[in-house]
Amino acid sequence: MRDQELKVQTTCPYCGVGCGVDISGTPDDVAPVAGMKTHPANFGRLCVKGSALHNTLGPDDRLLHPTLNGSQTSWDVALNLVADKIRQVISTHGPDAVAFYGSGQLLTEDYYVANKLMKGFIGSANMDTNSRLCMASAVASYKRSIGSDTVPGCYEDLEQADLLVLTGSNAAWAHPILFQRMTAAKKARPEMKVVVIDPRKTATCDLADLHLPIKPGSDTTLFNALLTYLHQQDALDNEFIANCSENIEAALEAASGAARDFAELAAITDVPEQDLETFFTWFKDTPKTVSFYSQGVNQSVDGTDKANSIVNLHLATGRIGKPGACPFSITGQPNAMGGREVGGLANQLAAHMDFSPADRDRVRRFWNSPAVAEKPGLKAVDLFSEVKSGKIKFLWVMSTNPLVSMPDADDVKEAMKHCELVVVSDCMANTDTTAAAHVLLPAASWGEKNGTVTNSERRISRQRGFLPSPGEARPDWWIISQVAQRMGYEEEFSYDHPSQIFDEHARLSSFENNGSRDFDLSGLVGMSQDQYDALAPIQWPVNEEYPEGRARFYDDGRFYTASQKAKFIPVLAEAPVRKGSTSSDTLNMNTGRVRDHWHTMTRTAKAAVLARHIAEPYADFHPEDAMRLGIRDNKLVRIFNDRGQIVVRAQVRTDQAQRKGEVFVPMHWTSRYASQARMGALINKDNDPISGQPALKMSDVQAEAYPTQWEGFLLTARDLGPLDTDYWVYNVTDSAHMYEISGQSDPVEFMASVRNKFAANKWLMFSDPANLHYRLCLIEDDKLQAVLFVHKEYDFSSRQWLIDTFAQDELSMQDRRAILAGRPLGKQEDKGAIICSCFQVGENSIKEAIAGGCGSAEELGKSLKCGTNCGSCIPELKSLIAKYQPAEAVE
Ligand code: SF4
Repeated sequence: MRDQELKVQTTCPYCGVGCGVDISGTPDDVAPVAGMKTHPANFGRLCVKGSALHNTLGPDDRLLHPTLNGSQTSWDVALNLVADKIRQVISTHGPDAVAFYGSGQLLTEDYYVANKLMKGFIGSANMDTNSRLCMASAVASYKRSIGSDTVPGCYEDLEQADLLVLTGSNAAWAHPILFQRMTAAKKARPEMKVVVIDPRKTATCDLADLHLPIKPGSDTTLFNALLTYLHQQDALDNEFIANCSENIEAALEAASGAARDFAELAAITDVPEQDLETFFTWFKDTPKTVSFYSQGVNQSVDGTDKANSIVNLHLATGRIGKPGACPFSITGQPNAMGGREVGGLANQLAAHMDFSPADRDRVRRFWNSPAVAEKPGLKAVDLFSEVKSGKIKFLWVMSTNPLVSMPDADDVKEAMKHCELVVVSDCMANTDTTAAAHVLLPAASWGEKNGTVTNSERRISRQRGFLPSPGEARPDWWIISQVAQRMGYEEEFSYDHPSQIFDEHARLSSFENNGSRDFDLSGLVGMSQDQYDALAPIQWPVNEEYPEGRARFYDDGRFYTASQKAKFIPVLAEAPVRKGSTSSDTLNMNTGRVRDHWHTMTRTAKAAVLARHIAEPYADFHPEDAMRLGIRDNKLVRIFNDRGQIVVRAQVRTDQAQRKGEVFVPMHWTSRYASQARMGALINKDNDPISGQPALKMSDVQAEAYPTQWEGFLLTARDLGPLDTDYWVYNVTDSAHMYEISGQSDPVEFMASVRNKFAANKWLMFSDPANLHYRLCLIEDDKLQAVLFVHKEYDFSSRQWLIDTFAQDELSMQDRRAILAGRPLGKQEDKGAIICSCFQVGENSIKEAIAGGCGSAEELGKSLKCGTNCGSCIPELKSLIAKYQPAEAVE
């Protein structure tokens, strides 16, 4: 079986674009993956993360066996223990003392079974998910205004729009294939306008005709002012408003207080008047407008209101349900949408039903369940607070890492200690959250799982397994069903294959639906296993009216509210309240993604090709803030507040990418990959009172230089785990494990701690204590085992030759001398930071090519190949051209 030829079509496990992926090779040697040409999300393209999927399939760090308090146990023991504990907690403390916390990484079938167990059989709705952190505000706003959690449009709308307004979205890095589709559309129709609304100048601004770097929190004011302006300019769609909506007067009234004129709006938003006028004029004059928004809108204390202020604009101008016109919320996770379909959020039931008596009764009869939850459960922030308070006695975390991603992450860590039993089912063994669990259950990973996911345009795609699971790892749906069966629900959870679960899910969606609910898969009911296996990507609903799926909702002017009319939501724009110390030294911390990593890096950190774009956690500063605070570019900085601290590398942005008084920190690094970079520890628990979504983009912090005595790096043949120094960051390379290191204490002690990690002790060493220069290496059987360089001031950007030396079978005397001298034999190319991950093209090579006459991304592509595969680096290539182009070329 291991040499069987693979020909499998599956779906990328990362972002909400949901690209199709072609798998070939053999299970023992999976070939480089390719984009699926027939998949309507990506038509053959993959971004850099997707392109590296085959590099992430190794067994390193996998959780292979069930464990109980750190000791391996059998599935039987572990499952019985979990089932018994849930039963005991229910009988002693009631069903609300049990909680599940899931993930947008779960497949729809996994999610369905978890939700069914919790809400239909345990009898509580305490099942929430990390999707709460991602798009709960967008969900709440859709439900308030259009009556259902329905993304109205499709990806083609992004290409057909004449005006694209991207708000709080760095699509170039977070949703790269959609960004490429937008880029191609603009290239084909240069008259298409793109506006980016974002406090930061991100890679997405490369596509923008207009960038509005607004003051964080002023977006509702901006959109309310725009609504007022459209009203004053008589630019509303009065026919649509009259026939298909209600409550416009209240929305206009609420919006009217946003700003008296452009001057006042400019003062509130920090955007020049002229740019505001340009944006408003474009919006007024462009019927085919798509508003594309993401975490910058959702992750806020008023995220639901913000999203509704956007939806209001589209309702007021009738720009919904038409080609190239809709309010388009884009989800971060691969199956956030699938989770919403099955009721994965604590305030949903299942199949887009709520907790009304009719919905509860319908679901109870369908499931034949003994105890359907009576009311919504605890949303993520409240859920973990109740874990800490001791009210929740049993917690099951599925495929996610809340000890990193939740706000006030150290408090979540503390909360775990207060819970009688913490179960974590995950494919990875070493996460911050697995370290806090009593019971670990090994779950199947991407490449092994079989089921469906739904992307941001409501398109259901199959994720197909093509590898056997290592050790005793099993699919999540199997694990949850086994626990349910052991709780006494054998018949209700007697699934043998995910196709049976999907069929039940589809049947529930159509059960007593009769057009009353948007989510309807009646056209997919009754599929055989073969049909399920062959299911082609399709957008829901799939029913008698739309047997091939439906691209756009609301083209008929009928909404899912009681009156069937869309409802304007009056939204008051209020400046965000800054809590705690707001001295002149206080900075507002914003968080987000980098291009080549995904979430808490459990998968992307396995691909050496992805580690070289941004190798260390960092913080972006405005030059004036950096100067005021004594922070130097490329040096370490401590960012802190009452809740915690992180130590990361400072980037002083002289390119006007970072607003003054604010700092940007990426979200990805965990205790597995860095000594002190869990940014969640700094974020307070403030959240939107309607959606419960935490305000992950606004935390008060302070920053100061983090002086160290020495800096350096460590390369090793094996993974050493955490190191004994203040600052370390771990990355894999092609042939060695690599640590960036620095410390405040005696480097000799640190070097001893490294040496103690190896049994052999024949270290070669160059030492110059007076200048704090140390270079050590360990060679065993003529093979390099470790290299450790410690210098007072560290500047050793070119170390690829050392990494390559780890691949050598035998080290010559000259090699050994070169290592201790700290210089390669002969001249070695220093590529600098990798910009194009696909072809490993570094900044120094690009700089040289620009000096040699390359003046466009295309010319760089012809010369170096950079940007010619996935295209994710093209915005960075353009900014490097702007940075390095000779002055005469610019003139
Ligand atoms: S855009 Fe990239 S990360 Fe997102 S689904 Fe497509 S290939 Fe995966």
